[in-house]
Amino acid sequence: MMQQYHALKAQSADCLLFYRMGDFFELFFDDAKAAAACLDIALTARGEHGGNAVPMCGVPVHAAEGYLARLIRAGHRVAIAEQVESPAEARKRGGSKALVERAIVRVITAGTLTEEALLDARTANWLVAVAEAGGMAGVAAADISTGRFEIATVPLASLDAELARLGPAEIVVPETLEAAPAGAIPFSPRAFDSLAAETRLKALFGVATLDGYGRFERAGLAAAGGLLAYLDRAGQGALPLMQPPVARATADHMLIDAATRESLELTCATGGGRKGSLLDAVDRTVTGAGARMLAADIAAPLMDRAAIEARLDLVQRFERDPGLREGLRSALRAAPDIGRALGRLAAGRGGPRDLGQLRDGLGEARTLHKRLASLDDRPPLLDETAARLAGHGALIDLLARALVPVPPVDAAQGGYIAEGYDPALDTLRATGGEGRRAIAGLEAQYRAATGIAGLKIRHNGVLGYHVEVQARHADALMAADSGFTHRQTLAGVVRFNAADLHEQALRVGQAGAHALTAEAAHLEELTALALAAPAAIAATADALARLDVAAGLAERAAEGGWARPGFTGHPCFEIAGGRHPVVESAVAASGGRFVANDCALSEESRLWLVTGPNMGGKSTFLRQNALIAVLAQAGSYVPATSATLGLVDRLFSRVGASDNLARGRSTFMVEMVETAAILAQATPRSFVILDEVGRGTSTYDGLAIAWAVVEAVHDMNRSRCLFATHYHELTRLAERLDGLTLHHVRAREWKGDLVLLHELARGPADRSYGLAVAKLAGLPPPVVARAKAVLAKLEKGRAATGGLADGLDDLPLFAAAAAATPPPDPLRALLAEIDVDALSPRDALDRLYALKRAAEE
Ligand code: ADP
Ligand code: MG
Repeated sequence: MMQQYHALKAQSADCLLFYRMGDFFELFFDDAKAAAACLDIALTARGEHGGNAVPMCGVPVHAAEGYLARLIRAGHRVAIAEQVESPAEARKRGGSKALVERAIVRVITAGTLTEEALLDARTANWLVAVAEAGGMAGVAAADISTGRFEIATVPLASLDAELARLGPAEIVVPETLEAAPAGAIPFSPRAFDSLAAETRLKALFGVATLDGYGRFERAGLAAAGGLLAYLDRAGQGALPLMQPPVARATADHMLIDAATRESLELTCATGGGRKGSLLDAVDRTVTGAGARMLAADIAAPLMDRAAIEARLDLVQRFERDPGLREGLRSALRAAPDIGRALGRLAAGRGGPRDLGQLRDGLGEARTLHKRLASLDDRPPLLDETAARLAGHGALIDLLARALVPVPPVDAAQGGYIAEGYDPALDTLRATGGEGRRAIAGLEAQYRAATGIAGLKIRHNGVLGYHVEVQARHADALMAADSGFTHRQTLAGVVRFNAADLHEQALRVGQAGAHALTAEAAHLEELTALALAAPAAIAATADALARLDVAAGLAERAAEGGWARPGFTGHPCFEIAGGRHPVVESAVAASGGRFVANDCALSEESRLWLVTGPNMGGKSTFLRQNALIAVLAQAGSYVPATSATLGLVDRLFSRVGASDNLARGRSTFMVEMVETAAILAQATPRSFVILDEVGRGTSTYDGLAIAWAVVEAVHDMNRSRCLFATHYHELTRLAERLDGLTLHHVRAREWKGDLVLLHELARGPADRSYGLAVAKLAGLPPPVVARAKAVLAKLEKGRAATGGLADGLDDLPLFAAAAAATPPPDPLRALLAEIDVDALSPRDALDRLYALKRAAEE
């Protein structure tokens, strides 16, 4: 057995091998150790190998999905080795000791999932392959859970942005690729061949040329080759659902690099996860497919004004008509996810329930089509979308006749083909039914004949139908002429067979088996029919998603009093009453009121320098405007009373001195690398927000860098730019740069306390409020008092000599002033460190022990 195991393991060295043994998948050696640790299951041992016990662990086959989900989420890949013959077949082939033949039937990786339990319904699941050719990067992306397939060829410098847009579950690259993205899986370079890939794609989609799908370049095709080869391996040769490829070009959407996406928290918040992101704040979709489409829209705002206006027209139609919107949304809520059902069927992992979902989802689409087509005042996108909802009448009617109303997930037990669909099947079922009734009749007959009232006819998997009596009644049935034959004696009961029972059981069994076979044949045929035109079904799925997105955005707009943005040909950015959707709801949740602010950038006043106290709302103001640009070009209403802008080709957001140790460079270095990227890439049509750039280094350096960056963005890039800074000195730039204007967030000191108004006003801030903010933040009074003394000295020294640190020598020592401060409480510190939501039960226990220890010390 171990020999067979090692042979299979050699085929899947980079995966955990799930080795099927009866009702379990077993793992051995290092696989067992890794899985046991990840799944928190017992690690045992089996036999020995090379003198040592072999580590082993296992999961029951019927519960494997849950365990697989956890392993995949933890970043593992899993190869499934199934038994490909029955033990009986093995014995026939090689005698009683013969080993059951096993083979890897599937490799499960994060990017090749179709199972409902392993996927997030509201998130696309991209498998991405990257290749390089002719100085360009090729990116091929497939979401096999729905068949979506995209190919792009982008400049090498835009590769990160393209990957960040997709947010891949898994990335595959040729082993030879230099500077591969983090976490990418190296794969055979031979697979990334653009010519072979083109040939294969043409064959796959039955076309003589790919031109009908768009323009594909070498790098993109090479990536597609790698993608298909990786999918071949995952499915062991069987390709999953692939729609024809969509050619994407970088110029089609607003370019947003990875750092900007992260900093603006477009689809994912800083702490990870959706909560707190822009997407979360606008998402009112009611279907998984709608949520996935909205995420894609926000990740790739459009550059085509007509396409944006078309989306906005659709949103507006629903925004103006709450009755229509509500009706549509409740219809969509009831519609199953036909895109994913189709994906499972095509991957050969579908079942009766998936066909039922197609029937119900397509049926819902047909009903909606009728309702929408009869509306008056239909914008073009509504007509276009509604048209894609119809056209599946024959399939819907067939499935409606063929399937029971609620088909089971699993085909194994049968019972999913409706009565009346197949007369032969109905006959088989009737025969089975008669047999079962006859058996019920036999029970009464046997009771009367034997006089044993407690006699029962039972059924189990081993004996089939049998007669069961209490042990004390068994003797009568044991008699040779009783008509019963003994089968089994258990504690308390004895079981028997009888000739007429056997005959009826055979009848039931045969009818049942034939019925199952007949149902399976129907399932296969219906699946093939459903898969005959996958593109048309996918188009309907997309149309439903588009309606959900538009109705959801209309709902959000109505809820928040948002405005439809307007677009102009010149690079302006005029927002009245702008708000930050995420901060606004956070402020509202804590009982506060968000203060709306205007923004007016134009060619004459293209750079706003925003100063003012810490916590005054500078960062919020910068971001809300960037988010408004994203929403507007994604085709959404925006959180403002009015908004007019010229299309933004590239969006940049940089925050100075943010802790970004995870990326392994010093924070200041990161800040400078990212700032350099902006200066190299931003155009007069771009929108740049720079937040406290230069804060990561010493005062003079930082000021000098910030100064030079403002000048460069103003003079060279000439982009629309919002620049927040605590360097008050920068306000002097207003005298020299004619496109720069000064703004500040207002604050007032009231009875010695600082009041932040979060209100933007013209001109520079009148002074720095650092100490007042420190007090507001709860810095102990002695420290604030001490800082005041230091500041007074500094300012006096600077006035006298011009030197920043002059005059510090004659200050009394800090220790004397600090003596009044109570010592910190270690228990509180330990408690504050705990992130309760992120604790595993085991961590929680460890933390409790640590707290006890600390308390005793
Ligand atoms: P800064 O960048 O000036 O330090 P932030 O933009 O980070 O300030 O804002 C600090 C906090 O102030 C936010 O977390 C929010 O609670 C509040 N805030 C910011 N802007 C507003 C606003 N316009 N209206 C109400 N509260 C706001
Ligand atoms: Mg800030």
